[in-house]
Amino acid sequence: MKPVLALVGRPNVGKSTLFNRLTKSRDAIVADFAGLTRDRHYGNGKQGKHEYIVIDTGGFEPDASSGIYMEMAKQTRQAVAESDVVIFVVDARAGVSAQDHDIANYLRRLGKPCVLVANKAEGMLEGVQLVEFYELGLGDVYPISAAHGQGIRSLIDLALAPLQLLDEEKDEAEQAGVIKLAVAGRPNVGKSTLINVWLGEERLVAFDLPGTTRDAISVPFERNGQKFELIDTAGLRRRGKVFEAIEKFSVVKTLQAIESAHVVLLLIDATQGVTDQDAHIAGYILENGRAVVLAVNKWDAVDEYQRELVKRSIETRLPFLKFANMHLISAQKRQGLGPLWSSIAQASKAANCKMSTPVLTRLLLEAVQFQSPKRAGMFRPKLRYAHQGGMNPPVIVIHGNSLEHVTEAYRRFLEGRFRKEFDLVGTPLRIEFKTSA
Ligand code: GDP
Ligand code: GDP
Repeated sequence: MKPVLALVGRPNVGKSTLFNRLTKSRDAIVADFAGLTRDRHYGNGKQGKHEYIVIDTGGFEPDASSGIYMEMAKQTRQAVAESDVVIFVVDARAGVSAQDHDIANYLRRLGKPCVLVANKAEGMLEGVQLVEFYELGLGDVYPISAAHGQGIRSLIDLALAPLQLLDEEKDEAEQAGVIKLAVAGRPNVGKSTLINVWLGEERLVAFDLPGTTRDAISVPFERNGQKFELIDTAGLRRRGKVFEAIEKFSVVKTLQAIESAHVVLLLIDATQGVTDQDAHIAGYILENGRAVVLAVNKWDAVDEYQRELVKRSIETRLPFLKFANMHLISAQKRQGLGPLWSSIAQASKAANCKMSTPVLTRLLLEAVQFQSPKRAGMFRPKLRYAHQGGMNPPVIVIHGNSLEHVTEAYRRFLEGRFRKEFDLVGTPLRIEFKTSA
């Protein structure tokens, strides 16, 4: 199946010129439908071993309600619907127009992969004149010159990349379907007890993971079809088939375990409540941006009064882990252990969440509409668009003006909206603000 690229943009930005470049020929495939030829051209293209189909469209006015423009809009919508990737062409020399905004809004709502291309950019210094196109909320702007044939090859690579990426990601996800799990906590919270209970379970199937040596403190296992690797667990040593706590608690080992884990299961001792050391470990987890699940162990050994105290100490001393699921368990009595697994899987999934620029930007603008940021003196922060800046933990980068005046309360408000929408339970979420000059 050849991927289909649709060229969209207002009239005169250079779509036909680009179409000829991308197809290197004039032999349109289906150029002969009456009434179609003018507004929708199909062409074959090939780069390296990658073949693709390009659809050229007439000028596009999404809101056109009559006459020739309405027909063009209809043609364009059909082309977009048929395509895998949209190439949105704007005019680098003319700058952003109201029409460009309308088209961008329309494309953002579709949520299809979209490459924003600034044509007629020959001789222009990239990044200087092009920054304004970021306003369109479609991410990076890619400069080309269709007339001079500049940037065309990389444009094709860029346009086809999301499609190839989908394939690669599938492979990677399958290979990397292993969740690296660290059980962290102070000495005596019950880490080795819990791990040995796990390893003794029949449902747990050990498997060989390439690259892990037998004597390393790393145990690959599978549970309910999900592969896990229990990594070098802080403060523990494997002796034969069982884990034992080592005499001395090692901060370095704890840190290393947290750093190399995908998900950290943080154990708290119910009989002790949250101690300084617990708070420190929790702080490291957060600093490293690790996904986390909280488990209060030895729940069997505390009475009602103590239970209330523990819950309260978690609220007051670990308020920054509110995003994490908490479980009340007894490793020794094997109580409450089952639900840990779904929380671990959920945290891992949230940490690797992919958020598209169009969806993020829509959420951002909806949030702003619901409640706009407070004015600070002369400045009112203007939030324009958002894109994902990283994964594991997810990072959301928000662009706009005067963003240094966004308050912490407002940042938390945005975080809450994003968390809710993407179901981000168990992972830290970072929000960065970038003010454009
Ligand atoms: P369309 O209406 O979007 O299909 O645009 P066309 O491809 O017909 O081009 C519109 C005008 O822009 C024509 O005069 C082209 O010669 C010119 N044009 C197209 N590409 C470029 C370019 O890369 N640089 C410059 N300077 N002009 C271009
Ligand atoms: P580690 O240092 O974190 O590995 O902790 P251990 O697993 O060695 O446990 C420390 C002590 O707590 C041992 O005496 C365990 O028997 C006890 N312990 C572990 N889990 C539980 C639990 O769920 N309930 C109770 N009452 N005691 C537990």
